[in-house]
Amino acid sequence: MSKGKLFILAGPSGAGKATLVHALLAADAKVQLSISFTTRAPREGEQNGREYHFVSREEFLAMAGRGEFLEHAEVHGNLYGTSQKWISDAMARGQDILLEIDVQGAQQVRRIFDGAVGVFILPPSAEILEQRLRNRGTDSEEAIVKRLANAREEIAHVGEFDYVIVNEHIDEAVRDIIGVVRAERLRFLAQAERHNALIASLQG
Ligand code: 5GP
Repeated sequence: MSKGKLFILAGPSGAGKATLVHALLAADAKVQLSISFTTRAPREGEQNGREYHFVSREEFLAMAGRGEFLEHAEVHGNLYGTSQKWISDAMARGQDILLEIDVQGAQQVRRIFDGAVGVFILPPSAEILEQRLRNRGTDSEEAIVKRLANAREEIAHVGEFDYVIVNEHIDEAVRDIIGVVRAERLRFLAQAERHNALIASLQG
């Protein structure tokens, strides 16, 4: 079985990561999204086990203590983490995995998997970023101010990523992310493993 790829999608809140994730999952059945654990309270419409596994701070810290997270970080005052077991099971199945995590988590994952592919999503302008955060209407003013300050810090790490997508027109950004995933699957080492018999036979 060919080895799956690990894709990390990062970028500030308001860059439109969630929309891109859903479009990618709908377009490409081979990509599986890791559902993170978080201590953040669910937003209206969010379901436990669908957007996140919602847990208490005590539960989260106990899981972290038992080494159950591949990576974890504090973002906007809440804890977020990626399940180590889910990732190793998905990898054993040879699946492509998508992590939608912050830049601190991305750094931790890259230290473990140097083949991980980092994709950073940028909003098209500072004004649109603020507008998107406000239009969401699910966060308090205090949370919005925190997210705006955090966005600047996140964007300072854009250079640590392999690909950058500016999410101005969603259709174009969706094509871009699908293109990144497809291009990564066509890399020589992955193709040589998949098509080893073909390459050998074509050489006579
Ligand atoms: P939100 O609360 O808006 O859903 O997410 C806030 C931030 O936490 C986003 O930047 C998101 O990418 C990040 N995040 C979500 N899950 C994880 C995770 O498992 N690990 C890390 N490090 N960050 C995460």
